[in-house]
Amino acid sequence: MRILITGAAGFLGSHLTDRFLSEGHSVVGVDNLITGSADNIAHLSSESRFEFIEHDVTQYIDVTGELDGVLHFASPASPVDYLELPIQTLKVGSLGTHNALGLAMAKQARFLLASTSEVYGDPLVHPQPENYWGNVNPIGPRGVYDEAKRFAEAMTMAYHRYHNLDTRIVRIFNTYGPRMRPYDGRVVSNFIVQALLGSELTVYGEGGQSRSFCYVTDEVEGIFRLFASSEHNPVNIGNPTEYTILQLAEMVLEAVGSNAGVRHVPLPTDDPKVRQPDITRAREILHWSAKVALSEGLEETIKYFRSLHAMGDLRPPPVLTENQT
Ligand code: NAD
Ligand code: UDP
Repeated sequence: MRILITGAAGFLGSHLTDRFLSEGHSVVGVDNLITGSADNIAHLSSESRFEFIEHDVTQYIDVTGELDGVLHFASPASPVDYLELPIQTLKVGSLGTHNALGLAMAKQARFLLASTSEVYGDPLVHPQPENYWGNVNPIGPRGVYDEAKRFAEAMTMAYHRYHNLDTRIVRIFNTYGPRMRPYDGRVVSNFIVQALLGSELTVYGEGGQSRSFCYVTDEVEGIFRLFASSEHNPVNIGNPTEYTILQLAEMVLEAVGSNAGVRHVPLPTDDPKVRQPDITRAREILHWSAKVALSEGLEETIKYFRSLHAMGDLRPPPVLTENQT
């Protein structure tokens, strides 16, 4: 197959690119590098089955040749990024999704949308099954991301129903692993970088809010299986084991061997209090569940950040302040 992946220079897009290449397929990666990095795909520079197009997918996507699949992963994805890039986030979720769907139609290709657990907002149902409609504040600071993804899901279903396009929607829950950007402000990268620098870990609020962290190889396996399936409705892919942010901080401090402790800073607006995927559908339809425990995945991720640290250029990561949210 020849597959096009938008956001291919990002964290998930680059791992997904590697996965399709390792299965013998060809990949066209499209990215404008707004939050991604050419370093994530540098190892593919002499791979003849990979081609890279630097392009903003909110503009018409012009690709020659046939395509069998279009996977739309382009979007700022961390709260720090989408608070800094609110209009770009709304545009890539709306115009970018429309362009990617149009491309899939023109090429008669299968389409997969990278959606998110954020469509559930600050959920009132716990854990979250796919038939929960969510609790999103459309005009809050996180609304730019949540509503863009909700629009993207609606647009994808419209192309499926009206144009008969063969579509998939994956709702991705917090994923971590090597190639996360050290400065995108997500909790796993922030805590590891802070621990490696011997600084206090910045816990937002009391740290009693929870997240369920999925290691990147598990996430990619689930997405790969969904793409190969015939399921048109959204499927949650995430690791259901839930941790509080304070528990995560303790695990990171211990794994890195730091005794710097934590520092509490104000909780950002609309920060979800809980988040845990109900993966019944993924188990039934895809025979998928997460395999990598948080302790194991953290070891691998810490190794990656240690290698960046050894090159000498790790600096303190961004921390959301009250006036940013
Ligand atoms: P990332 O920031 O590492 O990757 C996103 C990529 O998209 C970057 O390389 C960026 O440069 C590119 N991009 C953004 N806007 C673009 C545009 N207009 N045109 C072309 N390229 C553009 O983030 P990620 O964690 O790899 O996330 C990838 C996708 O998965 C996103 O759609 C995100 O919403 C979704 N997702 C990720 C997570 C997670 O935990 N990592 C959770 C839920 C959903
Ligand atoms: N968080 C934190 N310290 C940080 C960064 C994040 O305590 O330095 C918290 C944040 O408030 C949230 C959780 O960690 O409750 C996960 O944040 P992240 O930005 O990784 O993603 P989210 O799940 O909120 O989209």
